[in-house]
Amino acid sequence: MLQIKDLHAKIEDGAEILKGINLEIKPGEVHAIMGPNGAGKSTLSSVIAGKEDYEVTGGEIIFQGEDIIEDAPEDRAHKGIFLSFQYPVEIPGVSVTNFIKAALNETRKANGLAEMPAKEMLALIREKSEKLGIKKDFLSRSLNEGFSGGEKKRNEIFQMMMLDPKLAILDETDSGLDIDALRIVADGVNAFKNEGNAVLLITHYQRLLNYIQPDFVHVLANGKIIKTGDKSLALELEEKGYDWLLN
Ligand code: ADP
Ligand code: MG
Ligand code: MG
Repeated sequence: MLQIKDLHAKIEDGAEILKGINLEIKPGEVHAIMGPNGAGKSTLSSVIAGKEDYEVTGGEIIFQGEDIIEDAPEDRAHKGIFLSFQYPVEIPGVSVTNFIKAALNETRKANGLAEMPAKEMLALIREKSEKLGIKKDFLSRSLNEGFSGGEKKRNEIFQMMMLDPKLAILDETDSGLDIDALRIVADGVNAFKNEGNAVLLITHYQRLLNYIQPDFVHVLANGKIIKTGDKSLALELEEKGYDWLLN
């Protein structure tokens, strides 16, 4: 699904941040990326999603067999790459539901599909919101306006479920995510994942991996993946920190 080969990237006019990343994600897999603060984890997620503050200076990003490095962020989204907090905007007067309807129909249009019939849309919203324990009044609230941390997470996970991407990248950068917010993310990922999609989960929180079983755990430090293991690596990191891996 995703192959990253010797990827190098820098901030516009800045220093190199990603210094040769290699990563392969197959359908059905959950990959976790952990690592010290400032390692380049958020940069990696932004570069995969195509955010324009970064410049790729070498390597390849192949998504479903296609090199996507020249694609704009919205084209990547239309091809099935979802990045959490891609839509962090507050839009007074636009409800959670109306926003996701528009986003979903835009994606359909970009893929040559007609708008989803209203009845089908309603049924889909009902199915996904019920799965996530989202209440009706939440769906009619203004997007992100006055949302708590947990509500932002809930909205984000709802967007992911509705858009049903091939690859979901969740960057859990926020410090101070409480246990409820972690559960929202974990339950959402577990409800979302299937044999045909994949999840790249970036997190500081070992605890999150108690609820989501990753197939692979990677440690990113100083712009490179310095170690890859299974779930047990996350436990080892919780116990020993990162210092033993750095030189
Ligand atoms: P992580 O998510 O692992 O904490 P980041 O990808 O956010 O790391 O940051 C990696 C490094 O790149 C840090 O030193 C950070 O200060 C720098 N950096 C990232 N994005 C920017 C930016 N837009 N402008 C300036 N420096 C940045
Ligand atoms: Mg950081
Ligand atoms: Mg980060």
